[in-house]
Amino acid sequence: MAEAIGVCADCLRRRPAEALAVARRKRSIYREKLGLPPSPPRGTSGAPCKICVNECRIPPGGRGYCGIWVNRGGKLEPLQGHGRLLAYTYLDPHPTNCTAGYVCPANTSRGYPRYTFTEGVEKGYYNLAVFLLGCPLDCHFCQNPEHKLALATGTWARYIKSIDELVEEALNPRVTCICYFGGDPTPHMPLLIQASRKIIVEAEKRKQWPKRICWETDGLASSPLMREAARLSLVSGGIVKIDWKAWTPSIYEALTGANGEKALNRLKENTEQLARIARERPEPPLLVISTLLVPGYVDAEEVRGIASHVASLMDKYRVNIPMVLLAFHPDFRMRDLPPTSKRHALEAYRAAKEAGVKEVFIGNVWLLGDYY
Ligand code: SF4
Ligand code: SF4
Ligand code: SF4
Repeated sequence: MAEAIGVCADCLRRRPAEALAVARRKRSIYREKLGLPPSPPRGTSGAPCKICVNECRIPPGGRGYCGIWVNRGGKLEPLQGHGRLLAYTYLDPHPTNCTAGYVCPANTSRGYPRYTFTEGVEKGYYNLAVFLLGCPLDCHFCQNPEHKLALATGTWARYIKSIDELVEEALNPRVTCICYFGGDPTPHMPLLIQASRKIIVEAEKRKQWPKRICWETDGLASSPLMREAARLSLVSGGIVKIDWKAWTPSIYEALTGANGEKALNRLKENTEQLARIARERPEPPLLVISTLLVPGYVDAEEVRGIASHVASLMDKYRVNIPMVLLAFHPDFRMRDLPPTSKRHALEAYRAAKEAGVKEVFIGNVWLLGDYY
């Protein structure tokens, strides 16, 4: 059992109300220390934000759960002001260790010649990695907690970036893909969609192709935003990578802080619309699902649930949706758990295959060991 959660997966499955009360109490103590809302604010008044499933109603002077959106004088505004992002960028040479690297055009030639210009790795070219601050979730195992620590400590101002700066960086002729991650791109999605449109139009004018637009996200954006983001990936040869944390709602909430029932419904809705869009482009696959194998919480049963949903979409829409099962590394508030064991990873792999997912990969294999 992880100290940060205070209850085990068995209790979360069998007595969810009681177990979640413990997990929520523990989370709110730590969130309050950071100066972030203990749970998504939901008063009857306040500025409503509908960007993600949390659907915060932010009280005057308060912040949304992601820490990015605030209520200033009764109006909803991003912390950094309208038209600007909180992000830092860097160039990552191909082949990258991207979650979707197993099926990505830059590494595998899938989608050649339309979405990659080379058979084999795009050597000498780069992914523009765009790390966004803020996230609709608050995972205890977060491997990039600086996205929220910067928001909590007030150092966020050094990450302000304009859309024009981002577009210019993306138009570097050596950049063949742009990956929005973080944190999570969701709180910034309206602006990132605007920037991505400009990038695609300008890249076409300058005959810089490919310029793939990819998203690494928890998949909780509102359905219209997710659809628009996916369309930009579709036309540019990019991939939407959705990190699906758990299948049991109470486990999802204990790990992430978001309402598990609502999150799962949103994930089902968004993956369904992405599977529908994915019919328009067989290669590379538009949607890739990843799941982190958190010891004691995200076991084969959780993976089976997610994989069964993925397989049902594959059947219904006749598309390929690969899954990547990621080995866990003790981090942030879950340093008291071991890394994922080989046995756990193999059970999860088998569960995903038995459920009917065709392509299943195990990521971060170097972390696997005989821990339990
Ligand atoms: S983006 Fe999501 S978490 Fe952030 S304020 Fe809006 S609804 Fe809340
Ligand atoms: S961001 Fe997209 S195109 Fe770039 S390496 Fe990752 S999956 Fe491939
Ligand atoms: S969704 Fe990702 S970035 Fe956000 S808190 Fe969870 S692990 Fe961290």
